[in-house]
Amino acid sequence: MTAAALRQTDLHSLPAPPSVAVAVQEAGRRVGSSADWHFAPAAAALEGSAIREILKVTEQAAVLSFAGGLPNPAAFPVEALRASTARVLADDASGALQYGPTEGYGPLRELVAARLSAAGQPTTPAEVLITTGSQQALDLIGKAFLVPGGALLARNPTYLGALQAFALQTPRVIDLDAWIDTGIRRAPQLGGGLAFCYLTPNFANPDGATMPTDVRRALLARLDDAGMPLVEDDPYGELWSDAPPPPACRALAPQRTLYLGSFSKVLAPGLRVGYVAGPRLAIELLTRLKQAADLHTPSLNQRIIAALIEDGTLDRQLPVVRAIYQRQRNALLAAMDRHLSRFATWEATKGGMFVWVTLRPDSGLEAKSLFECALARQVAFVPGAPFYFAAPDPRTLRLAFSTLPAACMDEGMARLSAACEDALAR
Ligand code: PMP
Repeated sequence: MTAAALRQTDLHSLPAPPSVAVAVQEAGRRVGSSADWHFAPAAAALEGSAIREILKVTEQAAVLSFAGGLPNPAAFPVEALRASTARVLADDASGALQYGPTEGYGPLRELVAARLSAAGQPTTPAEVLITTGSQQALDLIGKAFLVPGGALLARNPTYLGALQAFALQTPRVIDLDAWIDTGIRRAPQLGGGLAFCYLTPNFANPDGATMPTDVRRALLARLDDAGMPLVEDDPYGELWSDAPPPPACRALAPQRTLYLGSFSKVLAPGLRVGYVAGPRLAIELLTRLKQAADLHTPSLNQRIIAALIEDGTLDRQLPVVRAIYQRQRNALLAAMDRHLSRFATWEATKGGMFVWVTLRPDSGLEAKSLFECALARQVAFVPGAPFYFAAPDPRTLRLAFSTLPAACMDEGMARLSAACEDALAR
């Protein structure tokens, strides 16, 4: 879904993008006639992620890629996973390989509730739904809250996967900062109304930003006035570099907030286990929606994670993971200082996986043309434009420091600086 398409209110006015139209025609040809395939217009209009297309180009071995925001395999606790898988299968094979409750494996719900409570969010197991990655929670939330023609608030730029998860309901996405600035409580022209506010308050994807406590409080007060829920997406909160992030919004406003957590960045994303915590009424509705989506999150993976929490592996793992990303972040920021300051400015992110870069206006550089020069120099990043649902800034780009070893950062930024020179000489 393009940013422009996301802003459309009428789903029937969305033109099928050429890629979808071609795919539908080809599928039609394979079965004899395209007329047999009457996809729902909103589904047929969905586009694949522009970023996944970019990543395909950047995956060649010689390219130093700062593009993909994948967790670092060096941080996967492979041996502990092997041991706990064996233990789970030895102790409880029939449970681990059987269908399970939609809400999630009871002991894992209890462990998640206990960890959240210890972190300042008092939570009972009944207030936790285990999901198939936190991505599934986003999908369920879109289905639970959004009506066609409705609207939601998000920061501009925002996590593309969230916009994709909400896209089927074709909401208008409203810039959170602009909404705060206008001081409007409820905008009457918004048809279905503002369904919720979506926010990644810690080390956001893509711009690495962390919302300070006073801004969190002010936002929660505004949401209170507007009677609007907050969807707090926090997959990166544990990956702090220097100091833990401010208190979670759910700790400040438990009745207003659905908190999304994930084991993807602290254990392994291939396990596909995350969770959503919040008021029981909402959790029960999300559970019914999940029942229709996938019955439950894999029983084996939930038990493996419960075992890794119970035996202390996760708590031993967290400082190890933090140290890996901190080292890589420090190396990248130092290399950027050495090579990039003539061409760009940036904020030193305090954790997570990303540094958001703005090319200097007086340089005349733009991220899209720089991307081509960068590939020629065998270095890659993601241009910022796809992350914006409105008014993209063509001078922005995202550098991920999660996968490249610290020793590669200097060479990577030297190549990017050479690419800037090439782009200017064009
Ligand atoms: N939210 C954000 C902000 C993300 O960056 C990601 C993954 N890139 C997710 C949610 C989804 O993570 P998962 O489904 O692996 O928990």
